[in-house]
Amino acid sequence: MSKYIFVTGGVVSSVGKGITVASIGTILKSRQIAVSVQKLDPYLNVDPGTMSPYQHGEVFVTQDGAETDLDLGNYERFIDINLTTESSVTSGQIYSAVIAKERRGDFLGGTIQVVPHVTTEIKERFRQLAQKSKAEVVIIEVGGTVGDIEGQPFLEAIRQMRNDVGRDNVLYVHVTLLPYLNSTQEIKTKPTQHSVNELRRIGIQPDIIVCRSDYPIPEGIRNKISLFCDVDREAVIPLPTVSTIYEVPLVLEEEGLGQLIVDKLGLDPRQPDLSQWQELVNLIKTPREPVNIALVGKYVELKDAYFSVREALHHAALYHNKDINFTWVPSEALEADGSDSLLSSAQGIIIPGGFGVRGIEGMIKAASYARNNEIPYLGLCMGMHVMVIEFARYVLGSAKPNSTEFDASTPYPVIDLLPGQKDKENKGGTMRLGNYPCQLIDGSCAASAYGQSLVHERHRHRYEFNNQFRAQLEKAGMVYSGLSPDGKLVELCELANHPWMVSCQFHAEFGSRPSHPHPLFREFIGKAKDVLREGAQPPLPLSP
Ligand code: GLN
Repeated sequence: MSKYIFVTGGVVSSVGKGITVASIGTILKSRQIAVSVQKLDPYLNVDPGTMSPYQHGEVFVTQDGAETDLDLGNYERFIDINLTTESSVTSGQIYSAVIAKERRGDFLGGTIQVVPHVTTEIKERFRQLAQKSKAEVVIIEVGGTVGDIEGQPFLEAIRQMRNDVGRDNVLYVHVTLLPYLNSTQEIKTKPTQHSVNELRRIGIQPDIIVCRSDYPIPEGIRNKISLFCDVDREAVIPLPTVSTIYEVPLVLEEEGLGQLIVDKLGLDPRQPDLSQWQELVNLIKTPREPVNIALVGKYVELKDAYFSVREALHHAALYHNKDINFTWVPSEALEADGSDSLLSSAQGIIIPGGFGVRGIEGMIKAASYARNNEIPYLGLCMGMHVMVIEFARYVLGSAKPNSTEFDASTPYPVIDLLPGQKDKENKGGTMRLGNYPCQLIDGSCAASAYGQSLVHERHRHRYEFNNQFRAQLEKAGMVYSGLSPDGKLVELCELANHPWMVSCQFHAEFGSRPSHPHPLFREFIGKAKDVLREGAQPPLPLSP
């Protein structure tokens, strides 16, 4: 039977609860303990698929096609596992399921209530993941902070679990913030005491408190939290802000969290091996030469909107012993005259995914700039649509080619809906989602990056390359370097007369891991690092 670790948040959100959960996974996995992870999101959306990236950052997609919170991306990257639909639970899903059962008559005669019906449905999701993943330890993150109205049923469900599966099989970890007061130059524990009180009020006594802080946490503060919150002194784990998120597992291990969890859950004591992780962090902390990458997108004000893209670029740069120097270019800004200067230092241009027409013309300009100046270009999903539109405009000598997403009446719909998508009325969950196979074409940049002929990559889009234009663009130098196995869908395209201009219809970023960067990102940075831009000096030959 699986054991459960429930992680709640206190005081404020955005203190790194997700990274803490991912890191607990890393330190348990480093002891060969099989783990799985689940995120409980209290909002009423069924999934974040229809939400703007400005709301919760990027939408992460699992291999089996669930649209999920970006925390799942961190779980996958830190623990190096592929999660499934069962790892993402929202209040919207829970209530839909309960109401569907009620309509079907499953509860005939009964009054449907939050306790027990909603909480039972929630607990069922815990068990489903435990059964499917066969994990020894299932780590469950409760989104939001303790006290949120929407989070109450989740907290009640995790409280009940201690009775349901036995005290020795459940652990409660509370992640809080210790604010620092500049005026008195001290760290305060009161908000933590309040949030622990709030937890206790609903019957949960935390076993471990992870204390986030921007400053080192003195012993006295640890003792105070231990006393007031009634947790063991060694179960108050300080987690000061570190320079890279990848250092968090090392800090938590150093503070004894791994051993504490093993002891408290009665797991087999095994030595942790975090040596690879340590090497990774050492590498990240070593100063490296930067590669200038311009990321041209419509949500660049919120970096979390491109979380996985940013991480994938970092992984690829590490592989080449380089760092990334990002220029975040709002695509709309490129629409103004003379805006090319925004790209003048870019050694590589990346256009990530997105929806809607805003900023599209700026992205098309960026693609045109990359093509004309032979700057390495990586297009991801919408970035591929942009590359195809730009090339078609150039080949056809017309400004009219477009995607029907942006111009429904274009005479040259080079990107269009497939018949199957045209009659869909609902927006949620109706895209091409999750893993699809892609056959690579020998001799292409993409095939040489992957070094294999069949790959599976994660999708999230409605629009596709329109095959009516295949031959015409091919004649002008577009190479269809990856196709669906039946040959009908263009999954990857690139330009023959360009050093490296490659785009994929899928989201390559979701498959990247710190220790094995995604092949397309790896090659993109490999090419970009050798590009010389304005003001750059070629490396001096070594004197004899
Ligand atoms: N808006 C485009 C589509 O729906 C691209 C989506 C994306 O970039 N994820 O097809």
